[in-house]
Amino acid sequence: MKIVLAQTAGFCMGVRRAVDMALSLVRKAQKDGPVYTFGPLIHNPQVLDRLASQGLKVLSSVPDRAEGTVLIRAHGVAPRVREGLAAAGLSVMDATCPRVAAVQEVLSRLKAEGRPAVIFGDPDHPEVQGLVGHAPEQAMVIRTPDEARKIPPQKGMGIVSQTTQDKAAYAAVCRVLTSRSPGAEVFFTICGATEKRQNEARDLARTVDAIVVVGGRDSANTRRLHGVASQTGALCFHVEDPRELDLPLLASLDRVGITAGASTPRWVIREVCRELEHAAAARKAAPGPRPLKALG
Ligand code: SF4
Repeated sequence: MKIVLAQTAGFCMGVRRAVDMALSLVRKAQKDGPVYTFGPLIHNPQVLDRLASQGLKVLSSVPDRAEGTVLIRAHGVAPRVREGLAAAGLSVMDATCPRVAAVQEVLSRLKAEGRPAVIFGDPDHPEVQGLVGHAPEQAMVIRTPDEARKIPPQKGMGIVSQTTQDKAAYAAVCRVLTSRSPGAEVFFTICGATEKRQNEARDLARTVDAIVVVGGRDSANTRRLHGVASQTGALCFHVEDPRELDLPLLASLDRVGITAGASTPRWVIREVCRELEHAAAARKAAPGPRPLKALG
């Protein structure tokens, strides 16, 4: 069996930066007091377990009083959250991804100019909640062209997207908004890292017998990668952990592709590759019939 590993598999720039900052903070924790993240640092259980074993704690809300350091994760937070953390007595370190910070800046500028804003994204996602905190008072969060049609025409409108959204879906929403509010300004704020991963997963899925997408079950970008790869009709698996691999089936195939979400660490991807290589070697030594699922 040949394993083809996607070049874009694993940490994006923003996640790597946040994890590196967290690791360096926990190393210094002994002398500088406890270290927290505001919310789970990333959507990957293995990384969270490793950081927790090194002493990193997670804050789920702004405390009244606390000491130590709190790290703002790559998704960013609303200004009032940052102010609340500082007011509670914590030293605030910022791992907001520079690409998310750029969207926050656009929204702050629209607010300062007294212009209305529309945010395309998932209102429950922490990044979007942080963006709303930077946006003008009446900013709307929408997910579909139908929701865009309900927004009354407005002068000076600015439109931004959550960084991990789909380009075509954003374009569809922008078409509706700009036709109803001529002169609306569209900011292209989707992160290239997401699109690159999705394009590569789609291309890879077309050239292999099966594709394995590695990443946290709570990771929206991993789930989206799995969705993109599945749409090609390829046999597609989402695993969080190498123990979830269907080894008898995968080892019976000629080419298996592997990709991983932006919050999946290298070491988990390597473990998945190793498990597959061992299973393939064992099968070569004692070949058996092909599992039915892999036929036809
Ligand atoms: S996907 Fe893009 S915007 Fe999001 S953390 Fe990674 S680099 Fe930053």
